[in-house]
Amino acid sequence: MPNILLTGGAGYIGSHTAVALLARGHTVTLLDNFANAEREVPDRLAQLTGAEILVVEADIRDVETVATALADQNIDAVIHFAALKAVGESEADPLLYYEMNIVGTIRLFEAMQKAGTKNLVFSSSATVYGQPDASPILENAPTRVQNIYGRTKLVMEDLGADLVRTGFLKGVVNLRYFNPVGAHSSAMIGETPSGVPNNLMPYITQVATGERPYLQVFGNDYDTPDGTGVRDYIHVMDLAEAHALALEYILQTPGALTVNLGTGTGISVLDMIHAFERATGRTIPFKISPRRPGDVASYYANPSLAERLFNWKAKLTVDDMCRDSWRWQARRAGINDV
Ligand code: NAD
Ligand code: UDP
Repeated sequence: MPNILLTGGAGYIGSHTAVALLARGHTVTLLDNFANAEREVPDRLAQLTGAEILVVEADIRDVETVATALADQNIDAVIHFAALKAVGESEADPLLYYEMNIVGTIRLFEAMQKAGTKNLVFSSSATVYGQPDASPILENAPTRVQNIYGRTKLVMEDLGADLVRTGFLKGVVNLRYFNPVGAHSSAMIGETPSGVPNNLMPYITQVATGERPYLQVFGNDYDTPDGTGVRDYIHVMDLAEAHALALEYILQTPGALTVNLGTGTGISVLDMIHAFERATGRTIPFKISPRRPGDVASYYANPSLAERLFNWKAKLTVDDMCRDSWRWQARRAGINDV
């Protein structure tokens, strides 16, 4: 089975993907600078999977260290998660985002070239679609980046495709994630937002623990069935499984491709609050607040390409997403009756 290196492998999506890869018999090396990951993650992964987890503590811009790790571990493919991901921060400090995400990716490509590693799965984002003309969104929809973070994702997608076209890489899959939520059902790994969460699910779970008094629902006058924003939330374990399948596909089928990862179903903010209450038995107080600047009314994926190419389909429900997000957050907050 292939040897896979995960940049940013100790982070939220990387750690769950490591579980999915190990379950399919791959050998996994995590490369992370732990800028946004807990030090305990590799041990928890080892405990969870019973597998040996190789860890390289390094920045992706350190070409020598990354190239050595790729060569020493005989790596067949890289899954590239390592990046900065806060939209607001990207607008406040564009050069930091160009440096970490774009220059970082170029350095990774240099290391791959040195080591002769020719396959890549790349974490992109549905944010590249910006304001879509309509949902469900197909991969050939126009890209309308609205912020520096989105720009870095689109540039990285293009760089990877260029390197395939020119023969430096064999295979690249750009995965455009819609809204990842949830955690592994063991509650041993999950998402750890620092400070006040921007995203809906971490905010809801912190209201449920009592860390925050209520949720602000940003707008109830959108042109959506109940007036609140509609998104395509996808369980992180479904996302993780898709990475494993995408990787296996690209190792067999050279080329560059871009694939949406979502469920194909739009869920409103009020739907999510009610699902959370149903799945966890907790009450989520909320107040209707003004729209959040820059928010889109509705977007969700057409995920049919992922199904066709990878034979992948999201399986976990909104209730699973709520239950697993809650288990993770409750455990962190020391609440045991979940
Ligand atoms: P995360 O912050 O939990 O994981 C990123 C990991 O990369 C962290 O462990 C961090 O320590 C590491 N890292 C950051 N910069 C690094 C560097 N220069 N060198 C080495 N390691 C570095 O984020 P995540 O939510 O797991 O996101 C993973 C990827 O998916 C990112 O590229 C992100 O842009 C993309 N993405 C995330 C979402 C989401 O909602 N979480 C949505 C769309 C796309
Ligand atoms: N949202 C909300 N309150 C919050 C956070 C988010 O009402 O505290 C809404 C937001 O306006 C959007 C949806 O929840 O309609 C998803 O927001 P999130 O930030 O999680 O994802 P994104 O908007 O980046 O897709």
